[in-house]
Parts: sequence; C-alpha cells; structure tokens
Amino acid sequence: MAFARLFLVLFALLAALPGRAAPAPTPPLKPLTVYFFDVGQGDAALIVSPTGKTVLIDGGPPEADEALVPRLRQLLREPIDLVIMTHPHLDHLGGLVKIIQGVGAKRFMDPGFDHPSESYRKLLEVVGQKVGQVMTPTPNPSAPETLLTVGEGVTLTILWPRTPRDAFLDGTRSDVNANSIVAKLTYGKTAFLFTGDAEPETEAFLLTRPIDFTSTVLKVAHHGGKHSSTAPFLAAVKPQAAVISCGDDYGHPTPEALERLGKTGARIFRTDIQGEVLAVSNGTTVTLTAQKGRSAPVVVTGQTTGPVAKGPMPSGTSGSVGSTRDKVVPASGKLPASSSKGMRYVSLKGTKVFHSEDCRTLEQAKTKERTVYKDRASAEQERRPAKDCDP
Ligand SMILES: [Zn+2]
Ligand SMILES: [Zn+2]
Repeated sequence: MAFARLFLVLFALLAALPGRAAPAPTPPLKPLTVYFFDVGQGDAALIVSPTGKTVLIDGGPPEADEALVPRLRQLLREPIDLVIMTHPHLDHLGGLVKIIQGVGAKRFMDPGFDHPSESYRKLLEVVGQKVGQVMTPTPNPSAPETLLTVGEGVTLTILWPRTPRDAFLDGTRSDVNANSIVAKLTYGKTAFLFTGDAEPETEAFLLTRPIDFTSTVLKVAHHGGKHSSTAPFLAAVKPQAAVISCGDDYGHPTPEALERLGKTGARIFRTDIQGEVLAVSNGTTVTLTAQKGRSAPVVVTGQTTGPVAKGPMPSGTSGSVGSTRDKVVPASGKLPASSSKGMRYVSLKGTKVFHSEDCRTLEQAKTKERTVYKDRASAEQERRPAKDCDP
C-alpha cells in the first residue's frame, strides 16, 4: 500500500510538471502570440502582446470575413488596439469593414498611398465613423523608422513607407504593392517581419537603410509571388521560419519564391495547406503550430539584435501605441462629421479640387503653394471636393 501511495504522490508530482518550462539560462518571458489566419488568397495576422495589446495586420479578402470575424471575437475581449492595412488591395482590406464593425478598432493605420477604389473608399468611410484615430507612418526626421511600443518589451517598427521624407516608390510593377507597410515586431531576441505585398523595389530600397532586418519569422511578401522575396533581402532577414498566406487557385506561392526561401533553410508554413498558423514567442524562441496536418510544433531560435538600427538609435523615437499623439495624423473626412466645425479648406496650386486642411495629401504634397478657404462654401465656389478626403 505504501508503495501504491508513493506511486500516487510521484504521479501527482509528475502531472504537475508539464507546462512548467525547465529552467533556462534566461527565463522565458510571458508569451507574445501571432496568429496567421487562413483567409484563402490574402493576408490577415493578429499580434497579441504579453499584456494583451492587439494589432491586426490586414483583414483578408471580402469572403474571409464570415470566418474571420467570429475567430477574432473568440480571441478578443476588447476592440483591436491598432489595425494596420498594409496597402489598399482587396485581398488585404476586404474583411476590414466587417471586422471594424463587428470587433471594433481603436486606431487605424494605412500607408497613406492614394488608391481610388470603391472598397478602399468604403473602408475609410467606416473607419471615419468607427475608429477614433487614423495614422500614417510619419517618420521621425532623425530616425530611420517609426517605432511603436506595443506593450512590455514589444516594439513594432514601421520600416516603410517613409513619406514625406522618402517619396513613395513609383514606376514599379505595382506601386500599390510596392508601398505596402513593412513592419518589424521585436520581442526579446525574436522578431517577426511583416511585408504586405512588398515588391523587389521595396526590398532593394529597404536594404539601403541602416536597419537590422534579422527576423525569426518572415511573413512572406506577396503570398509567395515570384518577384518578391529577392535573394539579397532574404539574406538580410535570415528567417528561421517563413509563413506564406495564400489561397490555392492563384499560382501562389510560386516555385521561384519557394526555391529562394528554401535556400535560407527556413521552415516554411503555408496557410493554404496547413490552415491557421500560430506563432508563440517567449523572447528567446518561437514555437510555430499549424492547425492542419500532423506535424509537431516547430521551435526556432530568435537571433535579432534589436528592433531596428544597426547603430545606436537617436533618442525620442519611440512612443507607445497608447500615446503616439505626435505621430497621429487625423485624416479628414475620415473623422466624424462633427469634427469638421471650424475646419479650413485648402487647394494645392494647379489643382481643381480642395481638401480639408488636415488631409494627408496636403501634408505629403511637394508644393507649398496653396489656397486656403476659411469655410467649405467659399471653397466650393471655386473648386470641387477632393476624392481622397471628400471634405
Ligand atoms: Zn495581396
Ligand atoms: Zn497587393
């Protein structure tokens, strides 16, 4: 009997052990989780910081919202802290209207690249009604990037675009893709790189910047399209794992991109085959688990040196997602109508349209020559409202 009792005690002790990590040289931090959702052909990823701050990067295609909205509701108790739309293509923004309506968002960031599509206009309308703050990645003049502190030790760095300091890329295969928001999420020694649908020109430009691109997990650009994920860029990123977010009928991922990714030695995950991919970082390693298939979780080791700069960062570059007022650019026409009281209206020289005075187009315009109207009526006598801010 004594033996049986001892066995029971041992068993109870053993049963209590799993889940407690063995003592490591550096104690693991609280988990940071990134969900790469299975949205078919498109992108949608959710970051949940150790303190519960949330950032959604893209919202999948329109047909994804039926599954994505309930999935987000399951994961979130509160509105999303920040929604980032990497670029205004339907496979990235299609689900965002329903997500913002159904889950809610406190802040919205897009690259500020004008793209006159009906779905983008509709999204901005909903953002204007439902989201308090609209941001663009406004660079700090003395820093190569915009830093956002997501929460305890977690930094999200917007690497691209950098207007007005660096002009938007143009003359590329797709300027909308080329000006995708590219962001690096850093936690301890681990990092995630989100590339939207970045083009080779984006990658080449970024490589000229003094940035540590090293990332444990790479969200592969443009669904594994053949032009992006160039060898020099992958060599700088040195991914340990690569996640390709794609559907099956568009020829994505391409053999060319897969071959280049294969050469990096990264473990490759595909949402079209493996469904949702879950990546959990403890600051030292990242454990990736795929929803479908029987493969065991893959553990990769973080190797990044820091959020961004290869050299020391100038001070005053970081803010918190909760307090980045200096970086918040309210976009007019996207705020509730009541805020337009007392608003002035501005026309750029040589154009037939007027903008509300806080429109991002004005901020990004090269010409300083402009006409200011003190109210909407006088602006309307001479020009018509601009399509971007719809004042
Ligand atoms: Zn896309
Ligand atoms: Zn795109």
